[in-house]
Amino acid sequence: MRTVTGSTDHVVVVGAGLGGLACALRLAGAGRRVTVLERETGPGGRIGQLAVNGYRFDTGPTVLTMPHLLDETLNAVGERLRGWLDLVRLDPAYRAHFPDGSSLDIRASTADTAAEIAELCGAREADGYLRFVDYLAGLYQLEWARFIDRNLDHPRDLLGTDLARLIGHGAFRRLSAKVGQFFGDPRTQRVFSFQSLYAGVAPHRALALYAVIAYMDTVAGVYFPRGGMFTVAEALAEAADKHGVSIHYGREVTGIEVTGSRARAVRTGDGERIRADVVVLNPDLPVAYRDLLHRPLRRRIHYSPSCVLLHLGSAKEYHGLAHHNVLFGRAWKQAFDDITRRGQLMADPSLLITSPTRTDPGLAPAGRHAYYILAPVPNLEAGIDWLRTGQPYSGELLRLLAERGYPGLAEAEVRHLVTPADWADAGLAAGTPFASAHTFRQTGPLRPGNLVPGLENVVLVGSGTQPGVGIPMVLVSARLAAERITRSPRREAA
Ligand SMILES: Cc1cc2nc3c(=O)[nH]c(=O)nc-3n(C[C@H](O)[C@H](O)[C@H](O)COP(=O)(O)OP(=O)(O)OC[C@H]3O[C@@H](n4cnc5c(N)ncnc54)[C@H](O)[C@@H]3O)c2cc1C
Repeated sequence: MRTVTGSTDHVVVVGAGLGGLACALRLAGAGRRVTVLERETGPGGRIGQLAVNGYRFDTGPTVLTMPHLLDETLNAVGERLRGWLDLVRLDPAYRAHFPDGSSLDIRASTADTAAEIAELCGAREADGYLRFVDYLAGLYQLEWARFIDRNLDHPRDLLGTDLARLIGHGAFRRLSAKVGQFFGDPRTQRVFSFQSLYAGVAPHRALALYAVIAYMDTVAGVYFPRGGMFTVAEALAEAADKHGVSIHYGREVTGIEVTGSRARAVRTGDGERIRADVVVLNPDLPVAYRDLLHRPLRRRIHYSPSCVLLHLGSAKEYHGLAHHNVLFGRAWKQAFDDITRRGQLMADPSLLITSPTRTDPGLAPAGRHAYYILAPVPNLEAGIDWLRTGQPYSGELLRLLAERGYPGLAEAEVRHLVTPADWADAGLAAGTPFASAHTFRQTGPLRPGNLVPGLENVVLVGSGTQPGVGIPMVLVSARLAAERITRSPRREAA
């Protein structure tokens, strides 16, 4: 495994997003002096929070899986997750609502989910589900240590029996074809394959490798921290601070000072030069190359689709909604092709509706409810003018929700819209918060690496690099980035 070279005593981490904070904790735990510079006024990056009129809306991730990775991150400084977050396991993890009016709960236990599937689709389908769970568990075992949780310098690092076993497991076939081997009902096929969209790829194009996401949420479980997802960022930042990491908010890094092949310091917008033995970069990877390293990435990135978010605060309560709900439209393959290939809005959208106040009423004023509506849309490369399209599209979403059984949201007392133009303003390439898509060419060792070619002591962390997007993967990216530094022989600064 390649490591950074030279002294690693003082590490400057640019960005207090999940990746930057988790890496800072790992480095502090390994005895490094760590300085974090964050341009915003608080931690979290995409794990953000919007506080309006007594509501607290999470503005980024809502589906928390694999919390043991947070525990491991905190363990690096001798802390336990339990002391920092009050996690609730959601049951159901999701409620799927189908266009024919039926619904299916994905429950916390496999046996309960099998019973739900048997009731909706029959015993044969439930049997297929149990076989699918075994398949997913096997896939997870094969993938995690060798393919995901590991620094890969070159595709040949994968050669060997594990790759052969993964191929044998059908991991390089198409996801929808694989899921179709276990499920005959189009409804269950959708429930166990839509997760590939989290990886930015349609199920009929994604590798079956990405069924591992369905393992994480439908088998290993979905959790919610009381107080909202933002408490995850707050906890990591507070733990880092407690263990000596020096975090500075409101400090934008404008450049990295490089001599020869070494970064020497970072420069901030307010004119300060901060010397560094190693620099860790958490900003969106293509933006870090362009704006901070001033180097070409030397490859074309295929970006994930983006999303429109509607945050609604309302007195309306809908008893049919669970904490997480997927509203499937009638269109399927076409809906994915709309946003990933044709660059147009989904003609018949599938939506995620999260209502966190079902689990934690404290996130809204008494008697009120918070709703988070996520609609997948094309990224900015499609050329949609969101300044013109945003408001009419949010109106369309509200009409659609009314048609599908959730009337009255258009009169919500709080309504806040986020479009791809806003994601671009937040510094995210192509206006997508979901980074480069997990296509074959951007998977595993083929995804942009966490070392910068030609620089000995700059490491990347976050969703743009390996292994990928989402809280679990970004936490792994932090471990991998830290390992590039802590495995290097430590020396005094020259
Ligand atoms: C709407 C939405 C829904 C999502 N849903 C889920 C979900 O349900 N489950 C899930 O697991 N994941 C989900 N994700 C994905 C997950 O949130 C991200 O993959 C993850 O949070 C990205 O973390 P990061 O550390 O890579 O980047 P960021 O969080 O973007 O962190 C980068 C940090 O760097 C800072 N920065 C940038 N430039 C500079 C600079 N020049 N100087 C100083 N600081 C700088 C930024 O301000 C930011 O704080 C979702 C994301 C979004 C936005």
